[in-house]
Amino acid sequence: MPGRVECDKLCPEWPCESPEEFKGVWVVAEIVDGELAEASLQMLTPARRIAEKLGEPVTGVILGPPGSARHADELIKRGADEVLVAEHEELSEYYPEVYGEVIARLAAERRPSVILLAATARGREMAPYIANTLRAGITADCTDFEVDEKTRDVLMIRPPFAAIMLAYIRTPFRRPQIGTARPNVFPVPPRDESRTGRVERVVIEPPKPRARLVSRRRLGRRETPIEKADVIVAGGRGLGGPEGFKMLEELASLLGGVVAASRKAVDAGWIEPERQVGLTGKTVKPRLYIAVGISGSAQHMVGVREARRIAAINIDPEAPIVEQADYTVVWDYRELVPALIEELRKLKEEGPRYLEELLKGEVVEIKPGGEA
Ligand SMILES: Cc1cc2nc3c(=O)[nH]c(=O)nc-3n(C[C@H](O)[C@H](O)[C@H](O)COP(=O)(O)OP(=O)(O)OC[C@H]3O[C@@H](n4cnc5c(N)ncnc54)[C@H](O)[C@@H]3O)c2cc1C
Repeated sequence: MPGRVECDKLCPEWPCESPEEFKGVWVVAEIVDGELAEASLQMLTPARRIAEKLGEPVTGVILGPPGSARHADELIKRGADEVLVAEHEELSEYYPEVYGEVIARLAAERRPSVILLAATARGREMAPYIANTLRAGITADCTDFEVDEKTRDVLMIRPPFAAIMLAYIRTPFRRPQIGTARPNVFPVPPRDESRTGRVERVVIEPPKPRARLVSRRRLGRRETPIEKADVIVAGGRGLGGPEGFKMLEELASLLGGVVAASRKAVDAGWIEPERQVGLTGKTVKPRLYIAVGISGSAQHMVGVREARRIAAINIDPEAPIVEQADYTVVWDYRELVPALIEELRKLKEEGPRYLEELLKGEVVEIKPGGEA
């Protein structure tokens, strides 16, 4: 590994820092619609692990309007040792450059060694802003973190774009080391009522935003986002067109679930990008994931690693998903899905517990087109 001299040569514009002067692992906690984001709580899991290896504290960072400090206790009970709270009227509305600037200023002053953010829409905006302002290294969409015990660098682990291997990325000469992980990659740590910690309110004068939010309008239906869904019916290129998704909508609704998709279906414009699962989409953790007309590429499957059960409907018995699914039905979805819908409707009429029983693993025999 290059030493300080090489470091100066590598990047003369960015003076080398002394990593030992930076201490602590920060988790930036998002508050959305007055609630602590679950994705931020999940980041306390890797933060605790890193902090324990480094022997340093975990600090939760909350930004928001007056009253936001009420969320500090939840961060402490779930793993933070202390919480920094920056409350200001100007932080009532989220603006990436305002939030990013406040966090960058706090970090420049207090010098944490690591800053973790959830790779939500906000986290994806703020993290590069903070990194650029502090001239620090950033690794997006990590799937794990380790600590190099010799150098004390955090190894940020993520699949590179082809997703067939893992890249270990370190920032040896700059601090803080900034990393994001997508929602659902880590679990929320259990609440420990015995935990106590320090809450510190910081006085800040946020910069003025360059643009002001004038009004807010919610687009589309208010449906459970795929990353929170218990049952997902996902469609791929094998659906052959957008009509296939109408069928999947019906199936999903009977199962109390939502529809998602592969990137090919999204790229074809058959469904909106918010529903894409995979490396460049979302990570999901349903109890049941039904993949319809999806081949099971590595880039897709990386997003369903946390699914409890995977069922596949595919005409090709050699499709990679067959190896990875818990159940596969080799059949044309255009016959099988209507048969499933019909069967589920009948079951539903029989009583409200049908879904519970279905998800417990009871076998339902379905014969598309009346065949055995
Ligand atoms: C950098 C990078 C990032 C990527 N990120 C993602 C990502 O986030 N998410 C993602 O999904 N992909 C991603 N991809 C693309 C990925 O490599 C695959 O191309 C994609 O997942 C394939 O989508 P698919 O399974 O829908 O289509 P295909 O691979 O074309 O598979 C279609 C399947 O449908 C089956 N089929 C056809 N007709 C029927 C029928 N009538 N009934 C039942 N089955 C049928 C076929 O047998 C086949 O298995 C990424 C690729 C790269 C390079």
